[in-house]
Amino acid sequence: MEKFRLKKQEIKFHLGLNILIALFITMASYVNIPYGNLKAYFVYFVHFILLQFSVFGFVYVFSLFKSVFKVLFPVLFLILVSMSFWVYTQDITIGEGMIQAIIEANIDIAIDVFSVQYVFYLVLSMLCLFFFLRKFKEDKKSSIKSPAFIIAIIGIITFFLVENYKLGAFKRRLPFNVYFGFVNYFSKPKLKLNKIGGSPFSEEKDLNVIFVLGESVRADHLSLNGYIRNTTPLLSNQKNVLSFNKVYTPLTYTAISVPQILTNKSILDNNYKEAVSLYSVLNAAGFCTKWIGNQSLEKSYKEIVHTNDSVSIIDRFHSVLSFKKEKDLKLLDYFSINNITSLNKITTMHMIGSHWYYNNRFDERFLNFTPVTNSKYVGSLKASHIINSYDNTILYLDFFLNQLISELKKSTKKTILIYLSDHGENLGEEGKWLHAQEHSTSKNPAMLVWFSDKFRESYPQKINKLISKKNDSISTDFFFHSILDIGGIQSYTFDKSKSLFN
Ligand SMILES: [Zn+2]
Repeated sequence: MEKFRLKKQEIKFHLGLNILIALFITMASYVNIPYGNLKAYFVYFVHFILLQFSVFGFVYVFSLFKSVFKVLFPVLFLILVSMSFWVYTQDITIGEGMIQAIIEANIDIAIDVFSVQYVFYLVLSMLCLFFFLRKFKEDKKSSIKSPAFIIAIIGIITFFLVENYKLGAFKRRLPFNVYFGFVNYFSKPKLKLNKIGGSPFSEEKDLNVIFVLGESVRADHLSLNGYIRNTTPLLSNQKNVLSFNKVYTPLTYTAISVPQILTNKSILDNNYKEAVSLYSVLNAAGFCTKWIGNQSLEKSYKEIVHTNDSVSIIDRFHSVLSFKKEKDLKLLDYFSINNITSLNKITTMHMIGSHWYYNNRFDERFLNFTPVTNSKYVGSLKASHIINSYDNTILYLDFFLNQLISELKKSTKKTILIYLSDHGENLGEEGKWLHAQEHSTSKNPAMLVWFSDKFRESYPQKINKLISKKNDSISTDFFFHSILDIGGIQSYTFDKSKSLFN
């Protein structure tokens, strides 16, 4: 009978295997984080150790199925290593979008992928694994009767405990993000999009609507709304700009706020299952609909976005979690005014905006409020530094919208720009930071409107209505109904009383 004790062979094998996994896979999720100070290094070191411990748990249990393990482990290892290279070198985000690109075999990525360094990395990792496994040929490595099995189970439990403590802490990192990317890719979205009843049409023409969907911008950090710092110097000098400072949404993170804004659903509709996309109605009424995004699409609103005639996602393999993400000014490269057709048009630009990690959202020109943060770990930062970083993102937004307005002024169409952030942000109120938490500051998103002179001349009454509602308390429900109202949509029932132009 086997004795209940750890065998040397077993320890050596699993220790060695975990070092290989750590070097070639898991550590990639940690190398691009800005640490900045010792406390952050320490916290992320503990994070890494716990993650690796849970990986050990899963691998140990897997290794109990000896013959399957022998064949399958090298395959899985190769798949993970082939992805970790891009996380190491380019900080890409592995998730549903990446898995989709691989499964649906995008040629452009396949061409981009191959480089000498990449092939070298793959070969090196496979050689290491090959020689390692050859050294441990005998089948005495893992056993259900070993104390290591109990430790492995604790490792697996650690995974669930940590995920329960902070959602995504492990799931979003290698190697787990590959698995969950697959799961998300194959899972069905919760929201079902309904078809349009009737045959809507528009009584307008030559209308150009620009919708800028912002990210994590709270109303009270705009100097337009009375913020003590001058965060919106350029917009303050633009005429025809209105700021709505009392917009409300209880939906404080992107995955739940965006589907509400883009459909006929109300903020009061908890857990809605069915909805109508705004773009479907506009398409049916002859609008040209275009989406330009600087955020990878999440499952909850991906289908809604794809009801646009055309969808361009820039930098789609870098999510909000990446530190090497493209900045929002890139969106303007994809945007052009088109004076040729008289077709009505709506262009949506989805920003990465002011999403944490703030320093990644602006370039050096906007480093105005200093000192800024130097670490991603909020617990090791000074409140004032975080707020400085955040306010610099608002300066960047000011510049972005001002650039866009300058461009729109060249259009001969009746043009209106609506900017609405998907939710606000917490900046230390009651000790809360970032968003997805219950606090009023994350429920008050910034909202701005700009309109061309031609637009104002064409719709003086609508503009007067809009101005009169500037200081009203309104919920994000206004959006769907206001756009249909301004679009002159007929033969489709919507709630005109929720329109800001009525
Ligand atoms: Zn958001």
